[in-house]
Amino acid sequence: MRVITDCDKLRRLCGKYRAAGKSIGFVPTMGAFHAGHLSLMRRARQENDIVAVSIFVNPLQFAAGEDLAAYPRDFAGDKKSAGREQVDVIFAPLAGEFYPAGFSGKVLADSGLNSILEGARRPTHFDGVCTVLARLFNLVAAHRVYLGQKDYQQFLVVKRLVEGFAFDLELVICPIVRDRDGLALSSRNVYLDSRSRGKALVLSETLKLARSVIELGERDPAKVVSEMRQRFSLSGVELDYITVAGAEDLQPVKRVSGDVLIAVAAKVGGVRLIDNELLLGV
Ligand code: AMP
Repeated sequence: MRVITDCDKLRRLCGKYRAAGKSIGFVPTMGAFHAGHLSLMRRARQENDIVAVSIFVNPLQFAAGEDLAAYPRDFAGDKKSAGREQVDVIFAPLAGEFYPAGFSGKVLADSGLNSILEGARRPTHFDGVCTVLARLFNLVAAHRVYLGQKDYQQFLVVKRLVEGFAFDLELVICPIVRDRDGLALSSRNVYLDSRSRGKALVLSETLKLARSVIELGERDPAKVVSEMRQRFSLSGVELDYITVAGAEDLQPVKRVSGDVLIAVAAKVGGVRLIDNELLLGV
């Protein structure tokens, strides 16, 4: 496994792989790996000759007052885990290397998606995500890029970025990996103390509840949301939003049918968590 910190070296290496006819699968991350990250690497390993993983806590996607400085970092542990997943290349640049002085390649995220849900709460977040990914996509020149459904809105934003810039790559969305009790894995779960960890289960439980209510035939999104809200109100967790939305545009639906995303965001013990359920072909 090669560890690269230099943008030009990464570009040259990936260029060589491509010239040799090798397919490249790319997994962009902010590190502090958990089984969710590893599932993306495993899928990339199955489908490509070369697997490249980036580890970069991207300052542009954090607003002032967010957890950039405190964001969990464990490069030694990540390196071991990536080795076990037979990753070929880790790209781990310093911020000053990745965004050199005078950097002028900022990208604006799709405005329709940037102003709702996570975008409404974190107005510069998706611009930061698009900027880092546009640069990474050019450096890695991957055939396939692996993203988690955990950040479904991010996946849609990136899909539009890829379409907009005509990046020649396929986006692969991978299922949410959960702990045994249902909590969606997230690097930020390490911030939860044991009491908050218990309370945080309300996110996955309400999503399960919504799924079963819909499977029993409920098609009124207001009723689905109301059942979910009731469960939330008993939990003592501070709900941010619940949405029952179209899986392509994330606009609230009037009736639950077709491909629908149910997404929740909440604050538990001061930690902001998100989770979702994708229902296809309702
Ligand atoms: P992050 O390091 O949080 O930026 O995440 C890197 C990638 O891992 C993103 O594509 C995430 O959607 C994905 N990811 C994060 N958590 C999970 C999870 N629990 N299951 C599957 N993928 C995940």
